[in-house]
Amino acid sequence: MRINDPERLIREEAARIAPGLVAIRRDLHAHPELAFEETRTAGIVAAELARLGIPHRTGVGGTGVVGTIEGGRPGPTLAIRADMDALPIHEETGLDFASRNNGKMHACGHDIHTATLLGIASILKDLAPHLSGRVRLIFQPAEEVLQGAAAMIADGAAEEIDIALGFHNQPDLPVGRFGFARGACLAASDRFDLVIRGKSGHAAHPYAAVDPIVAASAFVGQVQTVVSREVKPLHPAVVTIGAFQGGTTYNIIPERVHLKGTVRTLHEAARNTAEAAIRRLADGLQTSMRVACSLDYQRMVPPLVNEDRVMAPVLAAVRAQFGEVIDEGEASMGSEDFSEFAARAPAFHLRIGSGAPGRDDRLHNAFYQPDEACIGNGVQALARATWEILA
Ligand code: MN
Repeated sequence: MRINDPERLIREEAARIAPGLVAIRRDLHAHPELAFEETRTAGIVAAELARLGIPHRTGVGGTGVVGTIEGGRPGPTLAIRADMDALPIHEETGLDFASRNNGKMHACGHDIHTATLLGIASILKDLAPHLSGRVRLIFQPAEEVLQGAAAMIADGAAEEIDIALGFHNQPDLPVGRFGFARGACLAASDRFDLVIRGKSGHAAHPYAAVDPIVAASAFVGQVQTVVSREVKPLHPAVVTIGAFQGGTTYNIIPERVHLKGTVRTLHEAARNTAEAAIRRLADGLQTSMRVACSLDYQRMVPPLVNEDRVMAPVLAAVRAQFGEVIDEGEASMGSEDFSEFAARAPAFHLRIGSGAPGRDDRLHNAFYQPDEACIGNGVQALARATWEILA
């Protein structure tokens, strides 16, 4: 059987299920859970998948859920991933469905993402007889700490994936519009802890001590040359020292200083160059400043790279469903662990406009209020994209 008018079928079905999805989203919003604690959320996801008759596995990578929709004919496996975790922020929106969990808030819209993927699942379940291949629905924990994707992948969630689709609500785009960036669109995120040990002493007698504050200050200055003098200028990179901890009072030279830094890069070459330079500078500090350095450098997630051959059919599907609603944007030095899936299969990450006039439009803040109409838009866009790729 052919479906002659997928635009109308998907639009009408999305409208029919929208009130239920908004109700789920508000329930998740009122009960936010932090990274790897998403047990209630995962339970709601599993119950909804069961209601839809979609086989699923819970406890994947901790609190993740993986559902499978088998198409009517053989073909590739297309994965769609949503993240489920909230942030340690005290909500200030005053909404009647505001967080009831003190100090926790869905301030990045992962409640929206979870509801959106449940809506996509509902529509694709109905379309399944017409699909060639299968859809893997990935409900992921712990995106905010950049560890949930890796945990799910270690538990088999990325095995035999041929195509991966990710998405994020985007409040600087008005609701109804969609965005993307070509190629490397989000940065690799790596981080380091550098503990610099000197020799404590009286502040009046620095010659009898080794001052780790001066050494750490020198390192903070030197590390600015990683981007300006070592990484290729055509390869974007950021090195930020976000914490500088040491010392207690006016008249004591402390024993140690602890620095915490993040490194963001869009290209693997820049990522390698930055790591090597930071290791060398920390090592050199021991000679130049007489301190002992211990550096713990951790690679968190790779850059998120959009593949043209996945991007093209998804953007064509969004246009076919909605018309001219797509704004090409720039890459961001922010990070997202969907990149772990994208490193294992050709992938595309769609930005779904969620901004509304007069609403606070910054992610990760206590007043964030996405426009809920973005749920239905995301459902239609990604259901249509899956239809175009697998039909
Ligand atoms: Mn997010």
